[in-house]
Amino acid sequence: MSSMTNSPDALNHFLFEDKLNHPTPIRGNLVHLNQTFTLAMQHQTLPNVLKIALGELMAASALLSATLKMDGVLVLQLQSKGALKLLVVECSQVLNFGLHLRATAKWDETLTTEMESFTFIELVKHGQFVITLDPQEGEPYQGIVPIEGESIAQMLQNYMLRSQQIDTSLWLHCDGESASGMLLQKLPSLGELDADAWNRVNILADTVTDDELQNLAPETLLTRLFSEEDVRLFEAKPTQFRCSCSKAKVGNMLRMLGADEVNSILAEQGLIEVNCDFCNKHYSFDAVDAAQILASSDAIKPSVAKH
Ligand SMILES: [Zn+2]
Repeated sequence: MSSMTNSPDALNHFLFEDKLNHPTPIRGNLVHLNQTFTLAMQHQTLPNVLKIALGELMAASALLSATLKMDGVLVLQLQSKGALKLLVVECSQVLNFGLHLRATAKWDETLTTEMESFTFIELVKHGQFVITLDPQEGEPYQGIVPIEGESIAQMLQNYMLRSQQIDTSLWLHCDGESASGMLLQKLPSLGELDADAWNRVNILADTVTDDELQNLAPETLLTRLFSEEDVRLFEAKPTQFRCSCSKAKVGNMLRMLGADEVNSILAEQGLIEVNCDFCNKHYSFDAVDAAQILASSDAIKPSVAKH
Protein backbone atom coordinates (compact mmCIF):
# COMPACT_ATOMS: atom_id res chain seq x y z
CA MET A 1 0.00 0.00 0.00
CA SER A 2 3.03 2.29 -0.20
CA SER A 3 1.48 3.94 -3.23
CA MET A 4 -0.82 5.84 -0.87
CA THR A 5 0.14 9.38 -0.02
CA ASN A 6 1.90 9.64 3.30
CA SER A 7 0.89 12.25 5.82
CA PRO A 8 3.15 15.32 5.89
CA ASP A 9 6.06 15.33 8.34
CA ALA A 10 4.61 16.46 11.63
CA LEU A 11 3.86 15.71 15.22
CA ASN A 12 0.24 15.99 16.31
CA HIS A 13 -0.85 16.25 19.91
CA PHE A 14 -4.36 15.16 20.89
CA LEU A 15 -6.36 14.61 24.03
CA PHE A 16 -9.53 12.86 25.03
CA GLU A 17 -12.42 14.95 26.35
CA ASP A 18 -15.40 13.99 28.42
CA LYS A 19 -19.02 14.47 27.32
CA LEU A 20 -18.90 18.08 28.52
CA ASN A 21 -15.78 18.71 26.46
CA HIS A 22 -13.57 18.97 29.50
CA PRO A 23 -10.12 17.48 29.05
CA THR A 24 -9.58 14.03 30.58
CA PRO A 25 -6.09 12.99 31.77
CA ILE A 26 -5.59 10.81 28.69
CA ARG A 27 -3.49 12.38 25.99
CA GLY A 28 -1.64 11.24 22.94
CA ASN A 29 0.73 12.09 20.11
CA LEU A 30 0.95 10.99 16.52
CA VAL A 31 4.05 11.37 14.39
CA HIS A 32 4.89 10.99 10.70
CA LEU A 33 8.50 11.15 9.54
CA ASN A 34 8.88 10.91 5.80
CA GLN A 35 11.38 13.46 4.50
CA THR A 36 12.76 13.77 8.04
CA PHE A 37 13.61 10.07 7.95
CA THR A 38 14.86 10.02 4.35
CA LEU A 39 17.17 12.99 4.90
CA ALA A 40 18.48 11.60 8.20
CA MET A 41 19.36 8.34 6.43
CA GLN A 42 20.72 9.73 3.18
CA HIS A 43 24.37 9.85 4.28
CA GLN A 44 24.41 6.31 5.56
CA THR A 45 24.12 2.90 3.92
CA LEU A 46 22.67 0.80 6.69
CA PRO A 47 21.64 -2.84 6.95
CA ASN A 48 17.84 -2.84 6.73
CA VAL A 49 17.37 -4.14 10.27
CA LEU A 50 19.24 -1.09 11.64
CA LYS A 51 17.49 1.36 9.35
CA ILE A 52 14.14 0.13 10.60
CA ALA A 53 15.31 0.27 14.22
CA LEU A 54 16.52 3.88 13.75
CA GLY A 55 13.16 4.78 12.18
CA GLU A 56 11.26 3.36 15.15
CA LEU A 57 13.63 5.10 17.58
CA MET A 58 13.19 8.40 15.72
CA ALA A 59 9.40 8.10 15.91
CA ALA A 60 9.65 7.19 19.63
CA SER A 61 11.99 10.11 20.39
CA ALA A 62 9.59 12.58 18.78
CA LEU A 63 6.56 11.11 20.57
CA LEU A 64 8.30 11.17 23.96
CA SER A 65 9.89 14.63 23.46
CA ALA A 66 6.48 16.06 22.76
CA THR A 67 5.20 14.86 26.15
CA LEU A 68 7.87 16.99 27.88
CA LYS A 69 7.26 20.66 28.37
CA MET A 70 10.85 21.71 27.85
CA ASP A 71 13.28 23.03 25.31
CA GLY A 72 16.08 20.55 25.01
CA VAL A 73 17.34 17.31 23.59
CA LEU A 74 16.09 13.77 24.13
CA VAL A 75 18.64 11.10 23.20
CA LEU A 76 17.91 7.40 22.75
CA GLN A 77 21.12 5.39 22.63
CA LEU A 78 21.59 1.62 22.27
CA GLN A 79 25.06 0.16 22.70
CA SER A 80 26.08 -3.42 22.19
CA LYS A 81 29.26 -5.46 21.85
CA GLY A 82 28.19 -7.82 19.07
CA ALA A 83 27.69 -7.08 15.38
CA LEU A 84 25.76 -3.97 16.41
CA LYS A 85 27.87 -1.34 18.16
CA LEU A 86 25.74 1.74 18.52
CA LEU A 87 22.43 3.33 17.60
CA VAL A 88 21.86 6.99 18.46
CA VAL A 89 18.78 9.09 17.85
CA GLU A 90 18.41 12.68 19.01
CA CYS A 91 15.31 14.80 19.03
CA SER A 92 15.63 18.50 19.88
CA GLN A 93 12.49 20.31 20.80
CA VAL A 94 12.14 24.02 20.37
CA LEU A 95 8.88 24.88 22.11
CA ASN A 96 6.22 26.48 19.93
CA PHE A 97 8.31 25.67 16.91
CA GLY A 98 8.95 22.05 16.19
CA LEU A 99 11.20 19.04 16.41
CA HIS A 100 14.65 18.51 14.90
CA LEU A 101 15.85 14.93 14.54
CA ARG A 102 19.08 13.16 13.64
CA ALA A 103 20.20 9.53 13.84
CA THR A 104 23.21 7.33 13.26
CA ALA A 105 24.43 3.74 13.65
CA LYS A 106 27.75 1.93 14.02
CA TRP A 107 28.17 -1.76 13.42
CA ASP A 108 30.80 -4.34 12.52
CA GLU A 109 30.88 -3.83 8.75
CA THR A 110 32.47 -7.23 8.15
CA LEU A 111 29.13 -8.65 9.37
CA THR A 112 26.81 -6.47 7.26
CA THR A 113 25.39 -9.41 5.29
CA GLU A 114 24.98 -11.62 8.37
CA MET A 115 23.13 -8.86 10.17
CA GLU A 116 20.15 -9.16 7.87
CA SER A 117 19.45 -12.64 9.23
CA PHE A 118 19.17 -11.34 12.80
CA THR A 119 16.15 -9.76 14.38
CA PHE A 120 16.69 -6.44 16.09
CA ILE A 121 16.04 -8.08 19.46
CA GLU A 122 18.80 -10.64 18.83
CA LEU A 123 21.22 -7.80 17.97
CA VAL A 124 20.59 -5.85 21.18
CA LYS A 125 20.08 -8.77 23.59
CA HIS A 126 23.24 -8.08 25.59
CA GLY A 127 23.34 -4.38 25.00
CA GLN A 128 22.49 -1.29 26.95
CA PHE A 129 19.66 1.14 26.20
CA VAL A 130 20.01 4.61 27.68
CA ILE A 131 17.62 7.55 27.54
CA THR A 132 19.03 11.01 28.18
CA LEU A 133 17.21 14.29 28.67
CA ASP A 134 19.36 17.34 28.24
CA PRO A 135 17.20 20.39 28.91
CA GLN A 136 18.34 23.81 27.76
CA GLU A 137 17.97 24.90 31.36
CA GLY A 138 18.68 22.53 34.22
CA GLU A 139 20.59 19.33 34.75
CA PRO A 140 20.76 16.46 32.26
CA TYR A 141 18.94 13.31 33.31
CA GLN A 142 19.83 9.74 32.33
CA GLY A 143 17.81 6.55 32.69
CA ILE A 144 18.43 2.92 31.77
CA VAL A 145 15.77 1.27 29.62
CA PRO A 146 15.66 -2.48 30.38
CA ILE A 147 16.18 -4.57 27.24
CA GLU A 148 13.22 -6.86 27.54
CA GLY A 149 10.13 -7.60 25.51
CA GLU A 150 9.69 -8.03 21.80
CA SER A 151 10.14 -4.52 20.47
CA ILE A 152 11.47 -1.00 21.01
CA ALA A 153 7.91 0.09 21.79
CA GLN A 154 7.61 -2.50 24.57
CA MET A 155 10.98 -1.59 26.09
CA LEU A 156 10.05 2.08 26.27
CA GLN A 157 6.56 1.36 27.62
CA ASN A 158 8.06 -0.71 30.43
CA TYR A 159 10.60 2.01 31.17
CA MET A 160 7.98 4.76 31.33
CA LEU A 161 5.80 2.74 33.69
CA ARG A 162 8.54 1.48 36.02
CA SER A 163 10.98 4.39 36.11
CA GLN A 164 8.64 7.31 35.50
CA GLN A 165 5.41 5.80 36.89
CA ILE A 166 3.54 6.99 33.81
CA ASP A 167 1.28 4.60 31.95
CA THR A 168 2.36 4.93 28.33
CA SER A 169 1.42 2.94 25.25
CA LEU A 170 3.44 3.14 22.05
CA TRP A 171 2.92 1.95 18.50
CA LEU A 172 5.92 2.36 16.18
CA HIS A 173 6.33 1.54 12.52
CA CYS A 174 9.10 1.92 9.97
CA ASP A 175 9.12 0.33 6.52
CA GLY A 176 12.63 1.53 5.66
CA GLU A 177 11.33 4.60 3.79
CA SER A 178 9.34 6.42 6.41
CA ALA A 179 8.61 6.12 10.11
CA SER A 180 5.44 6.73 12.08
CA GLY A 181 4.07 6.22 15.54
CA MET A 182 1.40 6.85 18.12
CA LEU A 183 1.62 7.37 21.86
CA LEU A 184 -1.06 7.30 24.53
CA GLN A 185 -0.34 8.47 28.03
CA LYS A 186 -2.37 8.51 31.21
CA LEU A 187 -1.54 11.45 33.43
CA PRO A 188 -1.06 10.51 37.09
CA SER A 189 -4.16 12.53 38.04
CA LEU A 190 -6.40 9.92 36.45
CA GLY A 191 -8.78 8.60 39.11
CA GLU A 192 -10.21 5.11 39.52
CA LEU A 193 -13.40 6.36 37.92
CA ASP A 194 -11.57 6.83 34.61
CA ALA A 195 -9.57 3.60 34.66
CA ASP A 196 -12.12 2.14 32.26
CA ALA A 197 -11.50 4.98 29.82
CA TRP A 198 -7.76 4.20 29.75
CA ASN A 199 -8.42 0.50 29.09
CA ARG A 200 -11.05 1.31 26.48
CA VAL A 201 -8.87 3.71 24.43
CA ASN A 202 -5.97 1.26 24.57
CA ILE A 203 -8.08 -1.58 23.23
CA LEU A 204 -9.30 0.71 20.43
CA ALA A 205 -5.80 2.04 19.69
CA ASP A 206 -4.42 -1.48 19.56
CA THR A 207 -6.51 -2.19 16.45
CA VAL A 208 -4.29 0.23 14.47
CA THR A 209 -2.49 -1.35 11.52
CA ASP A 210 0.98 -0.37 10.30
CA ASP A 211 -0.60 0.80 7.07
CA GLU A 212 -3.08 3.09 8.87
CA LEU A 213 -0.33 4.46 11.11
CA GLN A 214 1.85 5.26 8.14
CA ASN A 215 -0.67 6.55 5.64
CA LEU A 216 -3.74 8.04 7.29
CA ALA A 217 -3.97 11.74 8.05
CA PRO A 218 -4.24 12.39 11.82
CA GLU A 219 -7.94 13.40 11.71
CA THR A 220 -8.84 10.33 9.70
CA LEU A 221 -6.84 7.96 11.87
CA LEU A 222 -8.23 9.32 15.16
CA THR A 223 -11.79 9.21 13.84
CA ARG A 224 -11.33 5.67 12.62
CA LEU A 225 -9.82 4.40 15.88
CA PHE A 226 -11.87 6.37 18.40
CA SER A 227 -15.19 7.00 16.66
CA GLU A 228 -17.21 6.91 19.92
CA GLU A 229 -14.78 9.08 21.87
CA ASP A 230 -14.39 12.86 21.97
CA VAL A 231 -10.89 13.59 20.75
CA ARG A 232 -9.43 17.06 20.41
CA LEU A 233 -6.63 17.32 17.88
CA PHE A 234 -4.16 20.19 18.21
CA GLU A 235 -2.26 22.03 15.52
CA ALA A 236 0.60 20.07 13.96
CA LYS A 237 4.21 20.79 14.88
CA PRO A 238 6.68 20.42 12.01
CA THR A 239 9.47 17.86 12.24
CA GLN A 240 12.67 17.98 10.23
CA PHE A 241 16.11 16.45 9.91
CA ARG A 242 18.66 18.88 11.24
CA CYS A 243 22.15 18.20 12.46
CA SER A 244 23.42 20.34 15.33
CA CYS A 245 27.10 19.78 14.59
CA SER A 246 29.44 22.79 14.20
CA LYS A 247 33.15 23.51 14.11
CA ALA A 248 32.90 24.92 17.64
CA LYS A 249 31.35 21.67 18.96
CA VAL A 250 33.93 19.49 17.25
CA GLY A 251 36.54 21.85 18.77
CA ASN A 252 35.08 21.20 22.24
CA MET A 253 35.38 17.50 21.60
CA LEU A 254 39.06 17.88 20.67
CA ARG A 255 39.65 19.92 23.81
CA MET A 256 38.19 17.07 25.85
CA LEU A 257 40.55 14.65 24.10
CA GLY A 258 43.39 16.66 25.60
CA ALA A 259 46.53 18.34 24.30
CA ASP A 260 48.65 15.16 24.20
CA GLU A 261 46.21 13.28 22.02
CA VAL A 262 45.55 16.27 19.73
CA ASN A 263 49.26 16.99 19.28
CA SER A 264 50.07 13.35 18.56
CA ILE A 265 47.42 13.19 15.81
CA LEU A 266 48.78 16.45 14.34
CA ALA A 267 52.35 15.11 14.43
CA GLU A 268 51.23 11.94 12.65
CA GLN A 269 48.79 13.33 10.10
CA GLY A 270 49.40 17.07 9.87
CA LEU A 271 45.65 17.70 10.12
CA ILE A 272 42.87 16.53 12.37
CA GLU A 273 39.96 15.41 10.21
CA VAL A 274 36.55 14.73 11.67
CA ASN A 275 33.42 13.60 9.87
CA CYS A 276 30.07 14.09 11.56
CA ASP A 277 28.48 10.64 11.99
CA PHE A 278 25.00 12.15 11.65
CA CYS A 279 25.28 14.32 8.53
CA ASN A 280 28.73 13.41 7.17
CA LYS A 281 29.85 17.03 7.27
CA HIS A 282 33.62 17.29 7.17
CA TYR A 283 35.66 19.33 9.64
CA SER A 284 39.39 19.79 9.50
CA PHE A 285 41.75 21.41 11.99
CA ASP A 286 45.35 22.36 11.30
CA ALA A 287 48.04 23.10 13.91
CA VAL A 288 46.94 26.75 14.20
CA ASP A 289 43.26 25.83 14.76
CA ALA A 290 44.25 23.19 17.29
CA ALA A 291 46.51 25.57 19.24
CA GLN A 292 43.63 28.06 19.45
CA ILE A 293 41.23 25.40 20.70
CA LEU A 294 43.63 24.09 23.31
CA ALA A 295 44.43 27.62 24.52
CA SER A 296 40.82 28.63 24.96
CA SER A 297 39.36 27.86 28.36
CA ASP A 298 35.65 28.25 27.66
CA ALA A 299 33.53 26.37 30.14
CA ILE A 300 32.30 23.21 28.48
CA LYS A 301 28.93 21.79 29.34
CA PRO A 302 29.39 18.03 29.48
CA SER A 303 26.90 16.35 27.23
CA VAL A 304 26.19 13.27 25.23
CA ALA A 305 26.96 12.72 21.56
CA LYS A 306 26.97 16.40 20.68
CA HIS A 307 29.55 16.43 17.94
ZN1 LIG B 1 26.44 16.85 11.57
